[in-house]
Amino acid sequence: MNQPLSLDAPVLEIIERGFQGLYSGELGLSSIKGGQTTADSALETLDITGYASKRSEVLPKSRRGASVLSPYIRHNLLTLAQVHRAVKTAPYKDREKFQDELYWQEYARHLYARIGTRLFENLRFEANAKSQGDGWNRDMKCVDEVVSELETDGWLVNQTRMWLASHWTVRNNIGWLHGQDRMYQELIDGSRAANLLGWQWTVGAGTGKPYGFARWQVEKRAPGLCNQCQFSNACPIQEFPEEVSLNRIDVDSLLEHDLDPEKTSGPSTALKTDSPKYVLLTIDSMGDKDPALVANPDLPVVFVFNEEALRKLQLSSRRIGFYLETLQDLAQRRNLQVHLGNPYEFAKVNPVAVTFAPVPSFKKFTNLAEIHPYPWLQKPHSGSVKSFSAWRKSK
Ligand SMILES: Cc1cc2nc3c(=O)[nH]c(=O)nc-3n(C[C@H](O)[C@H](O)[C@H](O)COP(=O)(O)OP(=O)(O)OC[C@H]3O[C@@H](n4cnc5c(N)ncnc54)[C@H](O)[C@@H]3O)c2cc1C
Repeated sequence: MNQPLSLDAPVLEIIERGFQGLYSGELGLSSIKGGQTTADSALETLDITGYASKRSEVLPKSRRGASVLSPYIRHNLLTLAQVHRAVKTAPYKDREKFQDELYWQEYARHLYARIGTRLFENLRFEANAKSQGDGWNRDMKCVDEVVSELETDGWLVNQTRMWLASHWTVRNNIGWLHGQDRMYQELIDGSRAANLLGWQWTVGAGTGKPYGFARWQVEKRAPGLCNQCQFSNACPIQEFPEEVSLNRIDVDSLLEHDLDPEKTSGPSTALKTDSPKYVLLTIDSMGDKDPALVANPDLPVVFVFNEEALRKLQLSSRRIGFYLETLQDLAQRRNLQVHLGNPYEFAKVNPVAVTFAPVPSFKKFTNLAEIHPYPWLQKPHSGSVKSFSAWRKSK
């Protein structure tokens, strides 16, 4: 049953009132605000000068070179193509590095679109995926500092995501799947595609070469942090973890070749079977330029929070807050109705226009009146997705 949810209150109040039992952790919001308006101004002021040398800096925050665009990119408030274009006059080295990272995001989307839930299993090498436990010992200052940032802001630079994933599995030998879930609960840019890829690559399941995290990276990327640690003179991660060689898994033919790339990509022009009465937005496309939204400028817009999924996933209130801020912003320009319930049910009983999303759950939609193409940076091909470089080379 879909219940209407009023956006007419401060976001924290809406969460407290309407999302009881549907989120985990302390109630709070990220300092990174949701909404098309904020996304547009972040893009307008984007300056990636120095990105290539500074993208991995951690502390002090003023040294960081990361763009912090990921929450907007993840929900297609900013498309990868738009961000790619926006840096075309940036210095060569910074532009090359930055655009390469945008392609990593696109690679994650292609991989997930092609192999779906298979991405929840070790891809090419046998890493520890399933052992239970908590791999983040917070008595260490470096771990505590980063986990605290994850919990209060719902966002981390790439470097510290790698620290946390490596510490969890490579050092502490806890299954990466659980660490991945734990991080996914908090990240306001959390996407299964990029998060699973990031964990698989860090722990070595994707490459056979686990990334080692040791004091060395902390001294280099967050100078001064170790001096604040109680273990400063007896650091448990003074040395890199022992190098291990992971057993290779027979490569799935789906990684080498896609027999149906058209199905993987979704439609390349709008598919229409009925006259829609609503535009339905999904988590994968919440921007003003959502293709279904643009094609139907006069229709009311609907967003349905998936109650069952939220109950199961127990995302942080920061994530829910980011969605609510985005919806409140959109409501200033479009006639928007928000519900708590089941988006698939809504689409089954109402004729809706929706934008294709390259994720396994999109298959749960039936009876769609209009399906609009997904805004790919590059259309999925049928060649290898075994590695980033193989994917880039394939046509
Ligand atoms: C363990 C782990 C988990 C991750 N989980 C997520 C996730 O859930 N969602 C997510 O969007 N990214 C994820 N990443 C990728 C990356 O860390 C973030 O996209 C990046 O840190 C976001 O910060 P930014 O926008 O400042 O990036 P910038 O460095 O400014 O890069 C610009 C954009 O390029 C893309 N990008 C950059 N680095 C990567 C990368 N390594 N892989 C894929 N795309 C990249 C992102 O869209 C990013 O917004 C993960 C990486 C790791 C190692």
